[in-house]
Amino acid sequence: AKAEGRGRWRFFEPEMDARMQLRRALEIDLRRALAMGEFELFYQPIVDVASRRVSGLEALIRWRHPERGLVPPDAFIPLAEEIGLIVPLGEWVLAEACRKAATWPGTPKVAVNLSPAQFASRGLVDAVTSALELSGLTPARLELEITETVMLQDTEATLATLHRLKALGVRVAMDDFGTGYSSLSYLQRFPFDKVKIDRSFIRGLEQSRQSDAIVGAVTDLCLGLDMTTTAEGVETEAQFEALHRKGCREAQGYLFSKPRPAGEIPNLLKQLDRA
Ligand code: C2E
Ligand code: CA
Ligand code: CA
Ligand code: CA
Repeated sequence: AKAEGRGRWRFFEPEMDARMQLRRALEIDLRRALAMGEFELFYQPIVDVASRRVSGLEALIRWRHPERGLVPPDAFIPLAEEIGLIVPLGEWVLAEACRKAATWPGTPKVAVNLSPAQFASRGLVDAVTSALELSGLTPARLELEITETVMLQDTEATLATLHRLKALGVRVAMDDFGTGYSSLSYLQRFPFDKVKIDRSFIRGLEQSRQSDAIVGAVTDLCLGLDMTTTAEGVETEAQFEALHRKGCREAQGYLFSKPRPAGEIPNLLKQLDRA
């Protein structure tokens, strides 16, 4: 850009500067927030389609910012990932989710999202081990959700990590299936227990033949591979019925509940299981 002449470069400079400053400020704010304990986990129920009972809950992070209020993950996870803060933040998420899950009535599973940088970090298996030990949570009740991006990284290392995690007794799920670089070979090569079908396909259920066909095919395929399927973003009874007919095992979405603060979960679990 410099070669294009000083005038032009200077034209863009103030804007670039402003963006860099904003980013730098957010970075400092994020580190402060982690030290101050401003992060919080919400939980969203995942329902067994056949029985309509809660089989698990997904932990979803929020930032309770002193001035900006409740900040959603999309606003800070990408930067946390970029600056490496995702590793300590992710360790906190693991420990906190396991600690809470161990106190819930019944034995629902808890699902935790792992970002690609966290998955690739050296300390991941130790972090999972210590979260389980400290909480006393049965390993089979912890489910780790990873996206397809992880599969694009060094395959041997990814496989080795997945096997070490599975040796601990935890479950692994492929998140957002069908978006990005989906490949059927991933399902064959990597030892997933579950596939979460992305919301974009569920939205089209009962409306587009294509979405119906895709959800049906993925469900059948997973059945054949001994993997559970979970539909994400289920918002209507019609979508739920369609999933039931297709043999999809689990459903998650606003139809049952939005993600709720930890304090509401024990009551929510009782309410939903009565329904
Ligand atoms: P995700 O893992 O795909 O999580 C599902 C997202 O869909 C959540 O958004 C959830 O609130 C939303 N959702 C659930 N049901 C419905 C529905 O019926 N309709 C609609 N429109 N949306 C629904 P949220 O909580 O904003 O999280 C966004 C993303 O941030 C997550 O997508 C995940 O990729 C990431 N994330 C959240 N918590 C963590 C975390 O602790 N660690 C990491 N690394 N990433 C996280
Ligand atoms: Ca997820
Ligand atoms: Ca997802
Ligand atoms: Ca997603």
